[in-house]
Amino acid sequence: MKTMRVAQIPAAKGRFEIVERPIPEPPLGSVRIKVTACGICHSDVLVKEGLWPGIQYPRVPGHEVTGTIDAVGAGVTRWQPGQRVGVGWNGGYCGQCDNCRRGNFFACETGQVTGVSFDGGYGEYMIAPVSAVVRIPDELSPVDAAPLLCAGLTTFNALRNSGARPGDLVAVHGIGGLGHLGVQYAARLGFNTVAIARGKDKEPLARQLGAAIYIDSQSQDPVAELQKMGGASVIIATVTAGTAMSAVVPGLAPNGTLLVIGAADSLPLLPVVLIGGQRSAKGWYSGMSIDSEDTLAFSNRTGVKSMNETFPFERVGEAFERMISGKARFRVVLTMGGSK
Ligand SMILES: [Zn+2]
Ligand SMILES: [Zn+2]
Repeated sequence: MKTMRVAQIPAAKGRFEIVERPIPEPPLGSVRIKVTACGICHSDVLVKEGLWPGIQYPRVPGHEVTGTIDAVGAGVTRWQPGQRVGVGWNGGYCGQCDNCRRGNFFACETGQVTGVSFDGGYGEYMIAPVSAVVRIPDELSPVDAAPLLCAGLTTFNALRNSGARPGDLVAVHGIGGLGHLGVQYAARLGFNTVAIARGKDKEPLARQLGAAIYIDSQSQDPVAELQKMGGASVIIATVTAGTAMSAVVPGLAPNGTLLVIGAADSLPLLPVVLIGGQRSAKGWYSGMSIDSEDTLAFSNRTGVKSMNETFPFERVGEAFERMISGKARFRVVLTMGGSK
């Protein structure tokens, strides 16, 4: 029997272990992907630490997967072996529940999350339902494309659905794994792009990524700076501290929106700040497979690139710690070299 290597978490709060398993056959409506690269996303902590309700172990994390279709299951008509594909956070939907029937596929009642509900891309092969599969343009390398399937998709899709129009003042709060992509997308979508981060040292990078204005939240007051410019139509919050997020909300213009994509622990909001300016705070789910294709095509056309540090698959534990340390510039990606 042919086998593959995968990096699994044996139980909640367990350490990564690389194990051999039989290469699975793709079931009805699914494809098998030979994995080339897989990004390590902060959300993989949910698997590592057992924070996802009902998660079953052992589990192979990974939802920024790129590779090649290697086999297709029964009933698969639009995908063939040899196609370059990827899989992101959305692990497919049923198409039959009420939420799907209303077109809210992201809220599918039996919706799955890649690398959480089923095994993901920290391994040599994985199985994915066709509703989760993404075409990858020839021009994008597997490593370049991988982080765009979660971090890129989430920032691009949030911004393009934010209601902001070209020319509007849009602030990206935080220049990290999400924010460094958010600044690039905001600038290329035609927004008057503001980057807000801690420290003067991040300014050159923020400007290089496309920010027209940089606000150092250590030496400047972001609210006062944004209000001098009339207030932001949208602030996309990528930071992980809820208090830092809420502090910038008064920098929104009337009817402005705080768009939350950073998974902070809590978000304290003053009702008078919302009421007085008719401001709102809303979250944004990453997106579906077709949104990922839009993200990849836009990134390829406009030159948006994720800055990545790559690690061979065998060093998964070290790579994960690098991501957790917050010191990676900016995404960490595993590459599958010694696959057989
Ligand atoms: Zn993710
Ligand atoms: Zn459904």
